[in-house]
Amino acid sequence: MSYWLAGGGKVRVGVLAAQGAFAEHIAALKRLGVDAIPVRVPEELDGIKGLIIPGGESTTISKLMLAYKLSDKIIKLAGKGIPIWGTCAGMILISNEISDANGVKPLGLMDITVRRNAFGRQKESFEAELKIPVLGKKPFPGVFIRAPLIEKVKSGEVLAKLGDRTIVAARQGQFLVTAFHPELTDDMRFHQYFLDIIKGK
Ligand code: GLN
Repeated sequence: MSYWLAGGGKVRVGVLAAQGAFAEHIAALKRLGVDAIPVRVPEELDGIKGLIIPGGESTTISKLMLAYKLSDKIIKLAGKGIPIWGTCAGMILISNEISDANGVKPLGLMDITVRRNAFGRQKESFEAELKIPVLGKKPFPGVFIRAPLIEKVKSGEVLAKLGDRTIVAARQGQFLVTAFHPELTDDMRFHQYFLDIIKGK
């Protein structure tokens, strides 16, 4: 299946490529027939219909976004209603409140409170089968790498929780966040779900 614009061209989705797991998101989107492009400078945000902010190191990504003057333009795009999905560090950057910010300045787009590096040392990285009703019955393979968690969804809906009720995915209209990394699995359902948001479903 591929995603086409009314005019005939493929839908263009940008993946912020400052640092982190952006290549895997681009590959996943291409598998779904999308014109996926890496975004490193503000001009590359022109004409995109959606943006993914990937996982990586939120301190580094936030510094690079400021240095390359991407932050203001991303905030403007968000104001125009462009869907934005943040995975892991990207989720931290989309939030409007970080309980242990340590110098990370978020974009303040989505009304959630997150906590960085929230799973103790022994659980720095782990996998969990997640029940995500919006993706159907089959559990989704959640890959967590030094993941943040969502302390509070102040508006919007919770999409996924761990067995102990920790919130790990949420949506607020055009904004989507996952504490885990769907781009590191073969399961394309989350990327498909984001494309459905872009299509206005
Ligand atoms: N621990 C990282 C941070 O706080 C996020 C890790 C990730 O994106 N995999 O930025």
